[in-house]
Amino acid sequence: MPASGPEVLGPTPREPDQAFWDPEAQTRPREERRLRRDEALRRMLRRIWETPVPHFRRKLEAAGVASPDDVKGVDDLAGLPRTVKQELRDSEAAEPPFGDYRFTDVRRCVRIGQSTGTTGTPTVMMWTRHDLWVEYESAARNFWRSGWRPGMVATHAHPAYLYGGGAMLSGAYEYFGLVNLWVPPPDTDELAEQGIRAWLRMKPDIPFVGFSLGRFFEVSAKLGLDPREDVGLEIPAMPGGKGMPLVTAGLECYAYLGNSCGEPGAHLNEDWAIVEAVDPETGRPVPDGEWGDLTVTTLDRDNGLLRYALEEACSITREPCGCGETSVRGFWGGRFKDLLRSQGKHFQTAELEAALRAVEPVTKPSLEWAVVRPRDDAAELVVRVELAEGDPDEVAGRCRGEIRERLQLDARVEVLARDTLPRSGYKAQRVVEA
Ligand SMILES: [Zn+2]
Repeated sequence: MPASGPEVLGPTPREPDQAFWDPEAQTRPREERRLRRDEALRRMLRRIWETPVPHFRRKLEAAGVASPDDVKGVDDLAGLPRTVKQELRDSEAAEPPFGDYRFTDVRRCVRIGQSTGTTGTPTVMMWTRHDLWVEYESAARNFWRSGWRPGMVATHAHPAYLYGGGAMLSGAYEYFGLVNLWVPPPDTDELAEQGIRAWLRMKPDIPFVGFSLGRFFEVSAKLGLDPREDVGLEIPAMPGGKGMPLVTAGLECYAYLGNSCGEPGAHLNEDWAIVEAVDPETGRPVPDGEWGDLTVTTLDRDNGLLRYALEEACSITREPCGCGETSVRGFWGGRFKDLLRSQGKHFQTAELEAALRAVEPVTKPSLEWAVVRPRDDAAELVVRVELAEGDPDEVAGRCRGEIRERLQLDARVEVLARDTLPRSGYKAQRVVEA
């Protein structure tokens, strides 16, 4: 066993062919994990009173929680108040610069950053050494699950300085043992070229993936290079329907929440987070498989968040996974307010589309369809779909059946002649107003 301590920065090396980065945590029996989570949650509640953490203590007391002993474990969580990002902003504005929701003093931390502020005033994030370790260990599980191993060259183009994402990803790569090739974000053609030239010299083993991929394609072409052949860029395949794995709860909460083993959904790090899909109106978790508001409670961090509601859609499955990990798995469904709601359930247009796609006659020569935005839970769900050839009544029945089967929703399906619905050259308008 190599020495750990001041001379060694990073984790104990693993056997490259072992199945998991942290087999003990990742394959822990669920009952044992539940007991640990209950304890971790009780520790968090005690710290809210003892530190104290005024923001959370105030909210808990207002909700009738008089003492940390009132919360026995994870099962009590559904009755506790949630916090949204605007409250963090308000707290920082009222008590600048860090607000009153922190569990530690900033001088116990080793890194601070701030969010991009694209959706309002940026919030300040801070991490102690231990908080960074939780993120790095979580990232290491992800990287290992993806088949990456120490010694590979990985590259990224995250922004730096005040924005925390670049430092976080660089730190996680280096902790894991990847070679961290950090190129500038391609804000200008010159900066993009710096990155491209670096990749030509030091070929990454893991191709660049990021929001700015299109920019690097563009500038590669300007330089007379083939983005795929010469530069090694690849466009990753995106799963359709409900397939997006839930990978993050944001830098301010939990950057490396989990990722996919190849099976649907993302394995979630339940030892460090309680992830709930919550009905925004009642604050209670929705049944497994349904969409709710992604709500995360971090565990065993120096700086934590209690029932942080991200206003993004997620759904949870507890079905055991064939890979051997015992965690629940999560799906991500975009912004919560983009979901439709009918008959007490939230759903995505992509789920409706997948149901219609299962009915072959409506897919020829192309699937053209629309859903009328339901006014309220009681309103009939109306789906319109074009049909070129076939018996409209029979096809409508099959569409209804698929929607019932996959989304547990009753729909009225109107079968229309081809070329009835409006066409768009860019993005098809699937939701129409009544
Ligand atoms: Zn799995």
